[in-house]
Parts: sequence; C-alpha cells; structure tokens
Amino acid sequence: MPFQESGSILSSLDGWRRTHHCADLSQDNLSQEVCLMGWVQYRRDHGGLIFIDLRDREGLTQIVFSPEYNQKAHEEAHCLRSEYVLALKGMVRRRPEGMENPKLPTGHIEVVVLKWKLLNTSKTPPFLIEDRIDVSENLRLQYRYLDIRRHTLGNNLKLRHKVAQSVRNFLNEQSFYELETPVLTKSTPEGARDFIVPSRLNKGEFFALPQSPQLFKQLLMVGGLERYYQIVHCFRDEDLRADRQPEFTQIDLELSFTEEEEIMELTEGMIARMVYDTLGITLDRPFKRMTYDQAIEKYGSDRPDTRFDLHLTEVTDIVKNSGFRLFAKAKLVKAMRVPQGAILTRKEIDDLTEYVKVFGAQGLAWIKIKESEWQSPIAKFLSEEEKSGLQERLELTSGDIVFFQAGSPNVVNDALGNLRIKLGERFELIPANIFHFSWITDFPLLEWDKEEKRWMACHHPFTSPKEEHIDLLESNPEKVQARAYDLVVNGHEIGGGSIRIHRPELQSKMFERLGIEAEEAQEKFGFLLEALQYGAPPHGGIAFGFDRIIMILSGAKSIREVIAFPKTQKGTCLLTEAPTKLSNKQLRELGIRLHDGNKGG
Ligand code: ASP
Repeated sequence: MPFQESGSILSSLDGWRRTHHCADLSQDNLSQEVCLMGWVQYRRDHGGLIFIDLRDREGLTQIVFSPEYNQKAHEEAHCLRSEYVLALKGMVRRRPEGMENPKLPTGHIEVVVLKWKLLNTSKTPPFLIEDRIDVSENLRLQYRYLDIRRHTLGNNLKLRHKVAQSVRNFLNEQSFYELETPVLTKSTPEGARDFIVPSRLNKGEFFALPQSPQLFKQLLMVGGLERYYQIVHCFRDEDLRADRQPEFTQIDLELSFTEEEEIMELTEGMIARMVYDTLGITLDRPFKRMTYDQAIEKYGSDRPDTRFDLHLTEVTDIVKNSGFRLFAKAKLVKAMRVPQGAILTRKEIDDLTEYVKVFGAQGLAWIKIKESEWQSPIAKFLSEEEKSGLQERLELTSGDIVFFQAGSPNVVNDALGNLRIKLGERFELIPANIFHFSWITDFPLLEWDKEEKRWMACHHPFTSPKEEHIDLLESNPEKVQARAYDLVVNGHEIGGGSIRIHRPELQSKMFERLGIEAEEAQEKFGFLLEALQYGAPPHGGIAFGFDRIIMILSGAKSIREVIAFPKTQKGTCLLTEAPTKLSNKQLRELGIRLHDGNKGG
C-alpha cells in the first residue's frame, strides 16, 4: 500500500470510537464532527470528488472525499471497493440542492471526510449487498454472512430479537421462570421422527434431540416451579415444506393450577404485547374463538384464514337423490359460492381443477349463475327442486360461480378449504397488513391412523381428554374431545397447547388407548408415570412457533428469511456443508459400522 496514515489496513481502531450509526444523521447534526464505521456499499467518482454510500447495521450515509478538505485522504480513497471496511471522521453538511435523496432517512445530508482509516479489504462479493436481490437462494445460503448484511435480512433478525425481548419482558412480569431443558435426551413423541445422537460413553445407545421440551416442562410442574418458559430449539426429522425447518424455535411455556381460559387469556396478552412492542399495532381483543367443528364446517380447515368471507356450505341433503351420481352417492357434499366469480375463464377453472387434485379431489364441479340460465357441465343433471334448494341455501345471484366437492369429509374439506384461499387471492379478497387471530378449541383427542391401524393422539399423548368424555375412551374414541387449543393467524397455526393429564391412572389408560403396551409405556415414559404419582399438580401449557411468528410479523415469504442460519429444503447447511461424513476413527469410537456404499470419510 502506498500510503501511511489512511489507506493502509490498520489492525486496531487506535482509540477511534463510533459516534453515530449510519441511519442516525439528519439536518439536526449539521456542522458536527462525527465518526462512522461500516462497509462500502457503492463508490462513485464525480468531478474530482469521490462518493461512497457507507453501510452499517442500521442504515446508509453518503460520504464525500473532497481534495479541498484533505487532499491525501481523497487520493487514497481511490482504493476503496465494495465491501471494504472503513472508519472515518468527518463533518456533517447539507447536500447541495438537487442532490437530496428523499427515499433515504439520511438523504438530506452527507459527511465530508477529514480523516479515514481502512479497516479491511474485501474480495468482490458473489452478489451485491442490496435489499432487492436476484440471485439463487443457494448462493445466498452459502454466503449467509453476506446475505445477513442486506438490510432486509438484517431487519428480520432485528425483529426476531425484539419479539424475543418482548416475550421475555411479558412472561417475567407474569412470574414465569426462564429455564433450560436438556438437548441430549430421550424421544418425545410430537409426531415426527427423532434426530439421533450416538453415545460414545455408552456404545450402542443413543440420545434423541428433543422434538419439544414437553416432558421436561411437565416435570418442572411436578417439581413445583409453577410457571416456566423457554425460547427453545426443537428438532424434528421431517421432510421439509415451505415453512418447516428441521431445527426450529418455539416459545414454550407451562403453568400449574390452571385451566384453558387462563392460558388462552395470558398468552393472548403476550401476543398482543409483542405485536404492539414491535409493530405498534393494537390488536382487537379478545381474539375470536371457534370450535374445531365450526372451523372445518365453515372454512374446511382447522387453521382458517378469517380475513375474508368466502364460506363452505354443506348441501348433502339437497343433492342426496341427485341425477348427478357423484353427488348422490357421496358421504358429504359441500359448496362454495364465489360472488361475481362467473368471470373466471375456462382455462382458469381447468387450472383450479388441477389444483384441487393435489388434495385428493377427483375433479371440481362448478356452476356459473347467469340471469337466464345456470351454465355448467352438471346443470342438466340437477332437478328444479335441487336448483331451488341450492339457490336458497347459497343465496345465489347472477354473476356468481359455485364450486362443489363431494366425497369423503377429509378430501372435501381439504380441497375446498385450499380452493378458498386460492380464490381469495385470485379475487383479491385478502386484505394485506392486518392480523386476524382466532383460538380453535374442542379438538378431537384421537384420530384413526389407517396405515398403523391404531388411534393416534391428535396433539400428543399427554393431552387431557375432557372430563365428561373419559368414559368414551373405550367405547367411542372418535367422540372424545381434547382439552386442547390452537392459535391461528391469517391461515397459519402459530401455537398449540393443552391441559395435561396429571393423574397416572388416566395417563396409563391413554397409553393403552393408543396401543402402547404397559411394558413399552414403562420403558419409554416410566419416568413420567412415576413422577405423576408424587402429587403432580393440574397443569397445562402451550408452545408457539417463534420462526413462524417472525415470518408473519415481518411479511417474509419463508421462515428461512427470519432464521440467521437456516437449512435448505434438503435439510443441509450450505455454509458449513453439514451434515458431513465421520472419520473411521470417530466411527470406531462410537462403535458404529456403516452399511456398504455408505462409508465414513
Ligand atoms: N409440546 C407441544 C408442541 O410442541 C406444545 C404443547 O403442548 O405445549 O407442539
């Protein structure tokens, strides 16, 4: 490097301290001497002056190197390139007229450099560090630290921090203890596959990473601590969908001597506080309540998007003798009227038909309601009586379209429920920037697993049945309702919890109902059954998907946009290249031999 004072890379800041962040400066600071530190976003040479946009975590400030102020500093600034790191001392001045940038908070000022120091150089980054970016996500994940420099991502992580602080403040005020639970542990059944860690000290034995702290938080209640929470990593080895990660974060809490009402009220307060603290929005409270049956009936989904008004209506009784065979023989027929939907083209309807097939539907019946006639491939099969029945129940008017699904309840609800969202988007019925929260209650306790041919817990096996339904566990398991509740916002489930079983006999009975033999129950959950016998208090809790909440509050499209170092869809980390092979030495130490074709490295 040809220069001494500024320009050569310095290993220390030499006592320089930053006085402001790059977003702080405005016309209130005119003529002040400031010290800024950050990265070069852009450099432009103009008529003897060098301009850079200096970026730090908070924002951008325009910097000017002018030979009039310091000739040497100006000369040396020719070396600056994108992402070089520098510290500078300079004077805040008004930008010349016509040079303001009203889009930037600091757009009316610039800092003219008196002295500067180069703190580091940078290779040319593989993509420009800009808010709007058009490169593959894989490249962004590989260079995640550069991606994080972009304010869009940086601000999502800032929001994440703020939400965590708000939650902590709220729960601390409510006398909760923040406690950790083990990461190396035993399987907790939350319905997914476990991640497994081999034990070197106990060869042939394995830990599981927690799918949630469920059992430990219950044990803390048995331990008499009364109120616990944790912002905690959980691990589920699932095939990944858009808003799933193998390693994700929950706001997990549990309390004793409590019932559903208190937990819902309390955590509603936590959510309202978090939304207010971070976005300044006051939510309407109390949140809407809906039973599981009502949600399925009206929206076809137990996580309904209630921001818009398309509804499903059952019409099985009207078409039970229909000339349209598919309707006549179906267990359930539901219709959805879309006001003014008759403008949909044949091509659009064909696309929607393909879309519902993803949810198991065989096709999509529809009728366009026109002044003089009903246009539809199925209209000719419907009697006058059916038509007037539909007309009355669905309150049809000219210009509407009605979609139908007929068949098994699961498919009908799933297909129409998803179609509802699609049409909400198509007709722009979903208002942006509002949050509609609802509690969903009265869930079934159990569902029949066709493949395993046994009853499974809908929530988890520690959820209490309603007291008045306990007797039905044997005779009518499908009728038993759980003391469980979910919180839904804008069509996303963001939290779920329950009142737990706190009596050992009922817990054993539940295991039995789930087809878990006494011996297996003892082996897997003996410690819980034992603990419940020592005066376990009534208790319950809930867990919220922290990543999902941040995604919704930030308006991000995927949870990968709100996690600092997320995994890919294939569950890998492109930055560190994990997972990796183990050396033969490590494998030997663990007592593990791999199958052929799957050798260690
Ligand atoms: N452990 C449950 C879950 O992870 C939440 C709860 O019941 O508190 O979904």
